[in-house]
Amino acid sequence: MDIEEFRKAGYQAIDRICDFYYSLEKRPVVPPVQPGYLLNALPDSPPEKGEDFGIIADDYQKLILPGLTHWQHPSFFAYFPTACTFEGMLGDLYSSSTPNPGFNWSSSPACTELEMVTMDWSARMLGLADHFLNSSGTGGGVIQTTSSDSALVVAVAARSLYQRTRPGTNLEKLVIYVTSQTHSLGVKASLVLGLECRILDVRAEDEYALRGETLKAALEEDIGKGKHPFVLIATVGTTSSGAIDRLDEIGEVAKDYPSLWIHVDAAWAGVTLACPEYRKVARLEEINKYAASIGTNFHKWGLVNFDAALLWVKSREDLTDALDVTPEFLRTKQSDAGAVIDYRNWHLGLGRRFRSLKIWFVLRSYGVEGFQKYIRKCIELNRHFAALVEASPDFSIVTPPSFALTVFRLIPRGAELSEESLNDLNRSLYARLGARHEVLLTQTLLNGTFCVRFAVGAERTRKEHVEHAWQLIQEEAGVALKDWTA
Ligand code: PLP
Repeated sequence: MDIEEFRKAGYQAIDRICDFYYSLEKRPVVPPVQPGYLLNALPDSPPEKGEDFGIIADDYQKLILPGLTHWQHPSFFAYFPTACTFEGMLGDLYSSSTPNPGFNWSSSPACTELEMVTMDWSARMLGLADHFLNSSGTGGGVIQTTSSDSALVVAVAARSLYQRTRPGTNLEKLVIYVTSQTHSLGVKASLVLGLECRILDVRAEDEYALRGETLKAALEEDIGKGKHPFVLIATVGTTSSGAIDRLDEIGEVAKDYPSLWIHVDAAWAGVTLACPEYRKVARLEEINKYAASIGTNFHKWGLVNFDAALLWVKSREDLTDALDVTPEFLRTKQSDAGAVIDYRNWHLGLGRRFRSLKIWFVLRSYGVEGFQKYIRKCIELNRHFAALVEASPDFSIVTPPSFALTVFRLIPRGAELSEESLNDLNRSLYARLGARHEVLLTQTLLNGTFCVRFAVGAERTRKEHVEHAWQLIQEEAGVALKDWTA
């Protein structure tokens, strides 16, 4: 493809993307395709001779698009929606037009410096303490691919720090702490590192938040057994129910265990810190006081297209001491002089995408005010949904709504059903909802209770979509109940 052919194909792509967005609402959220639909439609081997790009682009429309789940759909209420924006898309487009792996400052100075700037802008927007800023010279922020990568990087750094500050430690006895509500990223980090991960219990009466006393008892017990607690992954906004671990109590307990690295996973709810009125509930003060690191995904609720997992650390040296491997061919005079950040030493890979560009586009185009407005709008829509659930005699909210997430279940009025029967009834409701392709929700289990989750966050969701979803939920609940009693 030459430059003029690219121009033509590019205009066509943008036209088709715009048409797609105009038609998005009328499309099913979940594609009505069966496993193997695409495998059967595509040849086993690549073509011997190159094909005309027009045909390839048409095949994208015909074969690929119909098999996509539309996370951008206004009726996508599953997992945590990804709030992608046109600004973000354009950022990705520009960045892929100048592909470069940007691992050292000198391998592409703009990539490093824009990442430093956007990470500081984001930190300031969220109210993070100065020690997390790149401009502090000691701490700093880096964009990782996912929050799971962030947790792994943090665990690697914490292990290395433990080893350096306590030489002779049997590293096999290191323990990572998470709760039963922590995302799989904690257990995954422990699997990768071959370390123990202790999963702490949380209680319904504590709204599934980790309490200080639970942590303390576990630390004491493990230390008594000769183990070495080295990382706690606390969560602000768990995936299942939006629980917020009690960082106030955890921070106090951790004072007695100075070698315990507290990482805060705020992958979803971290963006609420942009709004001053949510900083108390999202525990900003404690994050700034106790956390050695904090991460949030702008690719979830932060208006930036996947991927953009933001990670800040209080001490950048903890990352570079653990991850700096510099063969001769990677040395540069700026690095040798200590004058620059080389982000390759802040994550696991060497090469990295130019992700800060889309964050820069989004933050400039929305401004802090636009960002706040969007977060507030989602929370408001969720409040509306929660009010509808609360007003219904047949449904119940399981945990207090958290930001833009409501966890609920069907508990029909007057019915005396065992917990097991209620779980089965809700499973049947959820299965019925899953068969409706015009809306998507996800399920969860909270200490054995089967619930349905409703998360607002897609950029195009409006009140009418929330109300439509509620209408479908009620319809399907009616059928599920009829089947149940038949
Ligand atoms: N942490 C929380 C609280 C999440 O909800 C999720 C995903 O939903 C993750 C971490 C994982 O994020 P990632 O896919 O970026 O690893």
